[in-house]
Amino acid sequence: MSPDPAMNPHPAARADPAAVGPGAEAVSQARRTVAELHAELVRNGLVAWTSGNVSARVPGTDLLVIKPSGVAYADLTAESMVVCDLSGTRVSGELSPSSDTASHAYIYRHMPGVGGVVHTHSRYATSWAARGEPIPCVITAMADEFGGEIPIGPFAPIGGEEIGRAVVATLSGHRSPAVLLRSHGVFTVGATARDAVKAAVMCEDAACTVHLARLGGQLTPLPPGQIDALYRRYQDEYGQR
Ligand SMILES: [Zn+2]
Repeated sequence: MSPDPAMNPHPAARADPAAVGPGAEAVSQARRTVAELHAELVRNGLVAWTSGNVSARVPGTDLLVIKPSGVAYADLTAESMVVCDLSGTRVSGELSPSSDTASHAYIYRHMPGVGGVVHTHSRYATSWAARGEPIPCVITAMADEFGGEIPIGPFAPIGGEEIGRAVVATLSGHRSPAVLLRSHGVFTVGATARDAVKAAVMCEDAACTVHLARLGGQLTPLPPGQIDALYRRYQDEYGQR
């Protein structure tokens, strides 16, 4: 039985937490940030056609902002971004959210420190996923950013929260903010959406370099102590403090 629409209006028509209230400015900011970050996926060559997506948790709310499904990157605007609650249900926006929304929402619900999630089918990383192989930590840039190998997770069907489940299960116990999903692509997480985009860029860069290295001969893993030292230095000391 469908509820009486007068008694139980469509979620988008209900007191819209994305348009009014204390979270409104945070939602607007997240819409702008997420729209802009999609351009980074294109600029860094991580996506083809409309594949790939970025989302952000809206600070101070139980909301996320994500790309609309199947819209060309050149046409994305802050206004076209979709606001959903953390169960993945749309609460604001005209368009349908990305088909990966339920998985993004699952990640936010189960990883409270995560403020941004990115998904791509970037070529080199996905070639490792196609083989079902983790990317071994054989270069300092990987120790810095990922603190070890980039792990491989199981295959999961698209559309529900199974991918989110696979991401959370694989990343727990890893320092890596990136996971390869078998036969599919890459998910990355970060404290912010920008951090997650950075991880996606670095993951593809590492996937390419390690692939090329292996074409020329055997890979030499970095010793665990060296990886720990590099990771600590990069996370705690590198850059402007
Ligand atoms: Zn995908």
